[in-house]
Formats: sequence, structure tokens, C-alpha cells
Amino acid sequence: MAIKLETVPLNDWGFFHLPPRPCVIAGPCSAESEEQVMETAAGLKAVGINVFRAGIWKPRTHPGSFEGVGVPGLKWLQKVKAELGMKVCTEVASTRHVFECLKYGVDMVWLGARTTANPFLVQEIAEALRDTDLPVLVKNPVNPDLDLWIGALERLNREGIRKLGVIHRGVTASRKIQYRNDPQWEMAVEFRARYPEVPIFADPSHIAGKREYLQELSQRAMDLGLEGLMIESHCNPAEALSDAAQQLTPSALIALLESLTVRDAATADEAFNEELSRLRAQIDVIDENLVYTLASRMKVSKRIGELKKKGNVAIVQAGRWDAVLEKVASSAASYGLDTDFVKRLFNLIHEASVAEQNH
Ligand code: PEP
Ligand code: MN
Repeated sequence: MAIKLETVPLNDWGFFHLPPRPCVIAGPCSAESEEQVMETAAGLKAVGINVFRAGIWKPRTHPGSFEGVGVPGLKWLQKVKAELGMKVCTEVASTRHVFECLKYGVDMVWLGARTTANPFLVQEIAEALRDTDLPVLVKNPVNPDLDLWIGALERLNREGIRKLGVIHRGVTASRKIQYRNDPQWEMAVEFRARYPEVPIFADPSHIAGKREYLQELSQRAMDLGLEGLMIESHCNPAEALSDAAQQLTPSALIALLESLTVRDAATADEAFNEELSRLRAQIDVIDENLVYTLASRMKVSKRIGELKKKGNVAIVQAGRWDAVLEKVASSAASYGLDTDFVKRLFNLIHEASVAEQNH
């Protein structure tokens, strides 16, 4: 059962102004040195980006990787604020991180995907943030669990955090795909349907894992009507101590942002167009999943074909197919689908399968 969240609109945070979209948060995966932080921040400021991110404590998969510079990095963020007038934000994964951020005047924090997946930690962090006016962004958990994501927002909201937003960063891929994370845009779509008032930032960097995919993923986020983007940017990506393959220089980032086609509703007619393109983007996601499912089915069907050949068994067994049709028709009916349509569709799929097995 969805609980109502008491939230403050994004435009009242004092960080972002909508329209135009996207609201951008950019900066390196990790703060590495004072020079790297200042050079990257100055580069971003020069192209009009005002909200700076940098990881101070890094959750790494394997021990021994670069785990962030810790508290000294907070001084560099203070310097970005003081000298460049940017807002600064970082990830918090413990109450100690929260207290250090408050001490050093960090403007906004986010919960990382591994933290959102842990309600004990989220609760402790929410309590540490109680009575502060800090905006908090919550990344979706590493697993595709929408309720766990929402639960984290509820915990923060119950402790009085009202400047709340989310970051969609995809989920751990359970199959080999071109991206680092499985985008699972349907999670963001479902989140939007349940909480239309909560701003959503996409994190194309962690979905992509590679620079070459950042543009298409950012465009997709805009097509889905998301408000913002959190993108990793580094003054010298090749030398980055974490996530080198997915970071962009500030000038490459501005080129990417300028390449995006963004439709924003202004008149009644445009609102119609906006809704239409949002729905079409949802259909695109569903169609991609349909094609993937069809391909998976075809692979299994091929293996069945090989097995039948080996066992010297006929390809078509009428009784079996009638049973399959019966089953899908009754399942279709339970979803309110036209059973004739579904049977016709499955007969086509079956035909293609048989043709494949006859190869
Ligand atoms: C990050 O933003 O640097 C990060 C570690 O992301 P995530 O929590 O999405 O993996
Ligand atoms: Mn990163």
C-alpha cells in the first residue's frame, strides 16, 4: 500500500529551475585530489553546470580498489562552494558520513544503490538527517525492487526529510548485455506513476558503464519525461581512479547535453505531445522486452529441435501444442486480453519455431 510522501517541489530546493529540462548534476565518480576536483568543477561551471557531485567514500565491489579519499575531500568540496559558488553533493552510506557532510556544509546527499538495498542503514541515515533541511536523492536499489526503493523514501520522509528525489541507475544485470547495468526503465516509469510529484534523475553513467552509450541513455531519460541527469564528469577521464570508461570531460558533457532533443510542455497542445511521447517511450521499453523474450523463446525452441532430432522424435506433436494454446488462452483471459488474438499470435510464434526446428 503506497503511503503518501510529503515533499517539496524541486524548484523550491534552491538548486534547479524547471523548465528547461534536464536539471544536471555532474562531477567525478570520485574526488581524487584537490587539483582534480577544482579543475573538473571549474570546467563544469564554465559550461553552465551549477550542481557538483563527487564521491568521497566509494563502495567498491572488491577490497583493495580505490575506496575514496574520505574527510579531506570534503574540504575540496567546501572550496568548490566558496570559490565557484556551486552546490555540492556526495554519497552517504553511514551515520558518520552524514555527520561529516553536515560539518563541512555539503548541500545535498544521495544514498547509493547498495545502501538503498539495506533498510537498517537507511533507517540510521534517516535518523541522522532528522531536523536538517538537506535535500536527499535516493538511488534505486541494486536489485529490481520498487518497494525497497519506495521504502527508503518513506523512512526519510518519516524523519522529516521533505526535499526528496530519486536517481534511476538501473539494476545489476542478470544476463550479459551491452550496458554495465540493466536499464529497467520500467522501474522509473512505475515510480513516476506512483509518485508523480517526486523528481527523477537518471544516472546514465552507471547504467552505461561506457561513454559511447551515454547519449542514447540520456535521450531515453528525456523521452520518458524525467527531470534530471546525474552524469559523471572528470577533467581527465583516462586517468580516473574509478569508473574511467564511463566519465566525460566537461566539454564532452556539454556537447552531449546540447545534442539532446527535449520536449517540454508549454501550451495545452504541447502537453498532449509530451504525454504522447512519454507513452510512446513506455511502449518502446515494453517492445524491447517483447523482442528479448521472443529471442529467448526461440533459443530454447532450437534446443528442443536438436533434442528431438537426437531422440528421433517428430517435430510437431499436436497434443502438446493444443495444451500450450489452452494454457496461454486461459492466462490471456485472466489478464482481460482477447483470447482469439492471443491464440493467433501464438500460432504465428509456433509456426516460426517449427520452421526453425526444420532447419
Ligand atoms: C556513484 O554514483 O558513484 C555510485 C557508486 O553509484 P551507485 O550507487 O549507483 O552504484
Ligand atoms: Mn561511479
